[in-house]
Amino acid sequence: MEQVLATVLQRDPEQQEFHQAVTEFLETVKPVLDRHPEYRNFAVLERLVEPERMIMFRVPWMDDRGRVHVNRGYRVEMNSAIGPYKGGLRFHPSVNLSVIKFLAFEQVFKNALTTLSLGGGKGGADFDPRDRSDTEVMRFCQSFMSELFRHIGEDTDVPAGDIGVSGREIGFLFGMYKKLQNKFTGVLTGKGVSWGGSLIRPEATGYGVVYFASEMLTLIGQTMECKHCLISGSGNVAQYTAEKVLQLGGRVLTMSDSSGYIFDEEGIDIAKLEHLKELKNVERGRIEKYCQRYPHAEYVPVDPDLDYNPLWQHEADCAFPAATQNEINAKDAQHLVEVGVKLVCEGANMPCVPEAISLFAENDVLFGPAKAANAGGVAVSGLEMAQDAMRLSWTRDEVDTRLRSIMEKIHQTCVDAAAYYGHPGDYLAGANIAGFVKVGNAMLDQGVV
Ligand code: GLU
Repeated sequence: MEQVLATVLQRDPEQQEFHQAVTEFLETVKPVLDRHPEYRNFAVLERLVEPERMIMFRVPWMDDRGRVHVNRGYRVEMNSAIGPYKGGLRFHPSVNLSVIKFLAFEQVFKNALTTLSLGGGKGGADFDPRDRSDTEVMRFCQSFMSELFRHIGEDTDVPAGDIGVSGREIGFLFGMYKKLQNKFTGVLTGKGVSWGGSLIRPEATGYGVVYFASEMLTLIGQTMECKHCLISGSGNVAQYTAEKVLQLGGRVLTMSDSSGYIFDEEGIDIAKLEHLKELKNVERGRIEKYCQRYPHAEYVPVDPDLDYNPLWQHEADCAFPAATQNEINAKDAQHLVEVGVKLVCEGANMPCVPEAISLFAENDVLFGPAKAANAGGVAVSGLEMAQDAMRLSWTRDEVDTRLRSIMEKIHQTCVDAAAYYGHPGDYLAGANIAGFVKVGNAMLDQGVV
């Protein structure tokens, strides 16, 4: 295993995020390799850490003033052993090959946990949609798809949304794909419900995170009722995490964006959350504006001189990091332990650094890792693909019931795998091991390809 990691480091020395994801994974799957030498004999790990295909391309586009910009587009097709590549597209200035590879790597095991037949991939661009007009975003999406279309397809690779890509972008991307291929297929998920989308897809990641957290609480004889929760982020995942916490009787104290966070001591209730959704999804404004409507709430801007986020210093029972990778460092984790948080469940992908995860384990804080906890989004994407293939659509209740049952199964799978391989209660080990065994076995069955 050291050799596998050494090769990864030597091949791509600058890909820090990818190294982090691979290291965390390798540390937990060792017991499987010790019991099953066939994975070593057929170089399953070596193959897992090397993408099946990586596509990088130029994305030129013209802004509203006639200036031409050039961004870089990516699609990393990581692993197709158990199904077509599946995973989101991220449009954010921080996007680079390392970020897309780490996300694609995580996606492989996350998708394996969903119980559906989905391989793993991820893509995106270093484009910043913030402060761009709808027409600029449309031209960018059309240019992006004018290259991506030749690499994807409903049985090959099915992209979806992620940070910076939601309903608006999926619409523009789908329109261009359809025009270029002259085909109406389920090539993207997260589509509008009137043109092939699934009900509950926007809610799915956030709802799934809270279903997973509820399962974790059930095991220790508790529920979400009256739990005080810290949530970071205010995008799709954070919004629906908050909504489900409220539906299950919990209290939401914080939400944030890249400029700062709001702390509402009285709790962000459903009406306030609806206002916040309007602010973020329709006005596309900053979270600070929440305090104009609700002046009793406190707004705390990001302080670049601080090496921790004060959001995680509020007293609470549960924390749901739902903003972005590495947002909880060791100091933040220490603060969470000090304020009495008993459960951390990851809404974003890899939001906790490895030292933070170790601190949670040392202090008996329950930890739900992203690949298991936030798999509800891609799971409902899988359900969207199934509905598209049948050319019919299920009701809200039907999709929500399936989502809930998938999250319960993922939880049980993690618990069982962790116990079977000698790490009872370790959800991170359980998720990595169960995902690895499913994908690894398919790779063994299919030979050295
Ligand atoms: N971007 C989401 C994730 O991180 C969803 C991917 C999808 O629906 O394909 O899982």
